[in-house]
Amino acid sequence: MSRRRRIYEGKAKILYEGPEPGTLIQHFKDDATAFNAKKHEVIEGKGVLNNRISEFLFKRLAEIGVPTHFIRRLNMREQLIREVEIIPIEVVVRNIAAGSIAKRLGLEEGTALPRSIIEFYYKADALDDPMVSEEHITAFGWANPQEIDEMMALALRVNDYLSGLFYGVGIRLVDFKLEFGRQFENDMMRIVLADEISPDSCRLWDIKTDEKLDKDRFRQDLGGLLDAYREVARRLGILMDNRPTKTSGPRLVSSK
Ligand code: UDP
Repeated sequence: MSRRRRIYEGKAKILYEGPEPGTLIQHFKDDATAFNAKKHEVIEGKGVLNNRISEFLFKRLAEIGVPTHFIRRLNMREQLIREVEIIPIEVVVRNIAAGSIAKRLGLEEGTALPRSIIEFYYKADALDDPMVSEEHITAFGWANPQEIDEMMALALRVNDYLSGLFYGVGIRLVDFKLEFGRQFENDMMRIVLADEISPDSCRLWDIKTDEKLDKDRFRQDLGGLLDAYREVARRLGILMDNRPTKTSGPRLVSSK
């Protein structure tokens, strides 16, 4: 078998050339990074869970008419996606103060925000992904005003839908990050949801206990990341409770 051509390798994912023109394969790695990769660990099984969770969420979003790059899952770690031109902006939607906004504005973590807030960050590792405004985005040509409107409208729809979906399984959607791409088809271009949506890119808190079920477990050295991601998958109905049963040697079965 010939080796697939690697198009791009990021911190948690690899993109390979797809089987047909206009497609790519998105491979989920087990690497966990935080603070712009200053902290790094390999957490065995994380990629498999993120692949499944992201597949589930992208499918649900497609069902409500949100255009996405997702085509289908190929195996435990990979999915077939449409090739898009990634807009170099991270779109963050926040419902509750946590992480950088809590620090920046001196808000107590867990404070409900007056309304959902959208923020933009310029994707540039060398600069630590600085927060930018619409002015910066249009002035530097990263996206035009129409594209910004489209990304904001889609981000709010995603927020409404996912907030309800997670609420239904006892999870608060505190905040999350989206990425969008331009999909070209004949003479047409449309903005589609790209990248992934997983506990790596969302803050998810248990409604009753406020327990963190997301990457903050890694960022804050809380431990138990894999169990938390598994719990998210289980609540979404993706994983049956199929952890290997404890093997304590063969069990005698009555022959009666
Ligand atoms: N986020 C992400 N990738 C990034 C930065 C942030 O997925 O490069 C997500 C993060 O998981 C959280 C939300 O975006 O759900 C808001 O992150 P924040 O700005 O609070 O930054 P952080 O505290 O993660 O540095």
